[in-house]
Amino acid sequence: MNILVINCGSSSLKFQLIESDSGRVLGKGLCDRIGIDGSFISFAKGEGDKIKKEASINDHSDAIKLVIKTLTDPVNGVISSLDEIGAVGHRVVHGGEKFKAATLVNDEVLKAIEECNELAPLHNPANLIGVKACMELMPNVPMSVVFDTAFHQTMPEEAYLYGIPYEYYRRYKIRRYGFHGTSHDYVSHVCAELMTRKYDELKIIVCHLGNGASISAVKNGKCVDTSMGLTPLEGLIMGTRSGDLDPAILEFICNKENMTVSQMLNILNKKSGVFGLSDNFSSDFRDLEDGYNKNDENAIRAVNAFCYRVIKYIGAYVAAMNGVDAICFTAGIGENTSFVRKIIVDNLGYLGIRLNESANALRGQNILISSEDSDVKVYVIPTNEELEIARQTLKLLK
Ligand code: AMP
Repeated sequence: MNILVINCGSSSLKFQLIESDSGRVLGKGLCDRIGIDGSFISFAKGEGDKIKKEASINDHSDAIKLVIKTLTDPVNGVISSLDEIGAVGHRVVHGGEKFKAATLVNDEVLKAIEECNELAPLHNPANLIGVKACMELMPNVPMSVVFDTAFHQTMPEEAYLYGIPYEYYRRYKIRRYGFHGTSHDYVSHVCAELMTRKYDELKIIVCHLGNGASISAVKNGKCVDTSMGLTPLEGLIMGTRSGDLDPAILEFICNKENMTVSQMLNILNKKSGVFGLSDNFSSDFRDLEDGYNKNDENAIRAVNAFCYRVIKYIGAYVAAMNGVDAICFTAGIGENTSFVRKIIVDNLGYLGIRLNESANALRGQNILISSEDSDVKVYVIPTNEELEIARQTLKLLK
């Protein structure tokens, strides 16, 4: 069955058409600058080159129409009609405590997602617009919603509660939710397959290191802790997000700089992380690697702080699980930046881990990067959130 996977942002819409049995991507693309001047669609057939076309895309409904037109185009398309789309799987960022797994869409589900909007005001409304636009244009096609938060819903209370008055949890559901769940889910399962071990008998740490970055601890097939919190701001130092910090810093800087809390939060989300730490040198690890190799002190500072935070979290999660069988690296930095993996893995000697330097130089595949004699296996596993969404959608239909 062909499953259309949709990832809708406020002004963009990413899509992939996946043949669910084989996992083959028939076509994928992006509608960008929706509702803004200069909107366009880019599309690639299978493994082919991307073709970019300017187009008038006023809203998400226009975007979905354009996606369907592109997929069914007689010359450059990949299917002959809408009938060849068996289901649509939508990425939804926040499912709160309401959604512990992916689900098929109905009116009740839409209402429950809307109730989670205040937990992700930038993302959830955009995700919902995408779902509704698809429902309108494809009323007879089943739709699923797959949540970034769902995988982490197995965390125990001691891991998800903050040390603040309990009434805030009771009244407002303030707690750790965690994100990138689809990626943590996918990667930890692939890890168990590579180890030829049972998923529910393993202790796995997944380091999803991209522009947004998070770590999770997966014990006996269940997520028991993760670094992102109520929002994706907590945890690791990221591209432009600060990660963990003393909350009193907010008031201190607001007073010094005469700023409001929301201005400060904007800085913590958009101007911090390795970007801020490198004194605005770059948020991109390709530039940071270049700077690091040229002994640029701004790049070195940012990279060292980034890696140190990952190393610290790995230690914390080994403690949380009372051991670890495997550590996985994934996402843009985790998959591509071997020097970052080397800095991190070289600091895990206390776990009996040694890096296999030649394996660590490879990319683009599942790779074991720890040496044969390491007590704990370390893998690079390219994530595939779209395939995971397609698989979960298929499972719901069976
Ligand atoms: P993601 O959010 O997973 O797409 O990851 C984005 C980040 O991964 C970028 O900001 C880069 O820092 C890093 N990245 C992506 N591709 C490469 C690459 N080929 N080499 C080094 N770093 C990369």
